[in-house]
Amino acid sequence: MRIMAQMAMVMNLDKCIGCHTCSVTCKQTWTNRTGVEYVWFNNVETRPGLGYPRTYEDQDRWRGGWRLTKRGRLTLTAGGRLKKLLTIFANPVLPRIQDYYEPWTYDYATLTNAPLQEHMPVARPKSLLTGENTKIIWSANWDDDLGGSLEHARGDVVLEKISDQVKLEFEQTFMFYLPRICEHCLNPSCAASCPSGAIYKREEDGIVLVDQDKCRGWRMCVTGCPYKKVYFNHRTGKAEKCTFCYPRVEVGLPTVCSETCVGRLRYIGLVLYDADKVLEAACTPEDTDLYEAQRSVFLDPDDPGVQRAAEEAGIPHDWIEAARRSPVHALINTYKVALPLHPEYRTLPMVWYIPPLSPVVDVVRETGHDAEDAGNLFAALDALRIPIGYLAELFTAGDPAPVEAVLRRLAAMRAYMRDINLGRAPDAG
Ligand code: SF4
Ligand code: SF4
Repeated sequence: MRIMAQMAMVMNLDKCIGCHTCSVTCKQTWTNRTGVEYVWFNNVETRPGLGYPRTYEDQDRWRGGWRLTKRGRLTLTAGGRLKKLLTIFANPVLPRIQDYYEPWTYDYATLTNAPLQEHMPVARPKSLLTGENTKIIWSANWDDDLGGSLEHARGDVVLEKISDQVKLEFEQTFMFYLPRICEHCLNPSCAASCPSGAIYKREEDGIVLVDQDKCRGWRMCVTGCPYKKVYFNHRTGKAEKCTFCYPRVEVGLPTVCSETCVGRLRYIGLVLYDADKVLEAACTPEDTDLYEAQRSVFLDPDDPGVQRAAEEAGIPHDWIEAARRSPVHALINTYKVALPLHPEYRTLPMVWYIPPLSPVVDVVRETGHDAEDAGNLFAALDALRIPIGYLAELFTAGDPAPVEAVLRRLAAMRAYMRDINLGRAPDAG
């Protein structure tokens, strides 16, 4: 057993209101500079939607090789050795600036001196892709307006059909917010793909950083990160990414996004893990429980044997105490309500999510309140507004069982707390 410590985060998605405060404060702190105008180390996606950068989850798009376009043409994107060769000249599978949406300069004066207008100004939606008789439109926050049902979940929104579909599926539409930062993975593919060895994982707390002196601007990390959380600075010619606010963390302050989060939904803390298990967990076969395999790398900081081994490994005593008090450890391992984002990417992400329970449609209809009664709620789990299958695609590589277990636990806690708040004896059921 090789014990290491890792800074990690858990976000409770039921509490995110999509205000983007975290994105703006992060931007003001870290990317308010020339060359990175388009960059959001922290972004908040509306789900279902195309994500940021656009379609980053479509791993085929970034993998490379021959592909059939929607118009039936064969097109080459690079992969493997060919990708390495082509990267010397150009990296053809990099996201384009349109995939990030165009940068803009916010003119604060407009707030006070704009003339009265009949209509509010809106960002121009852009026609980005065209196929046979279809047009896919996207821009900042465009996904908000679409909401979505399972048909929309992958972003295959056909404009001409939207109105009819939405009318038909109105009752089934759903949306929620997914804030994202770099995952500070235990098995970071950005570091593995850097030809210059410029990306490294800090030994003491696992934060993944880019050594600006070593970076040669290959941009392999941009394509190599499946979460697309490395960005290229066009002014300096170097890669940049979220630093988990390490200068703040080192003096005991939370990350900027956590401190300014309006919903108070970000929990940060230390976890202990067995570094010898990382490779095994990353190479788990397709047909096994990827979520459970990735959870198995964590160690119990309350276990005296783990504490002894951690001290022998040179982890300071107060860090072990911090891991014992860590809300991240508790939410992932004790209460088992947090899940990793896309465990199938196999980088072992260290930002986990409590999936949204949301109001349950049938219960709301019957009682006018969400999840008031535990019995009703459990009966209505099939009628969740956000389909379990969609959450499973995000958090458990498609396996609905762990998501359902988490939602049941959240539902039980919600009903229990409501009983207490209303002065009733908690429902034993
Ligand atoms: Fe690297 Fe991407 Fe993982 Fe961040 S999310 S550590 S950039 S592989
Ligand atoms: Fe969500 Fe908090 Fe960011 Fe607002 S500040 S969008 S509530 S994560």
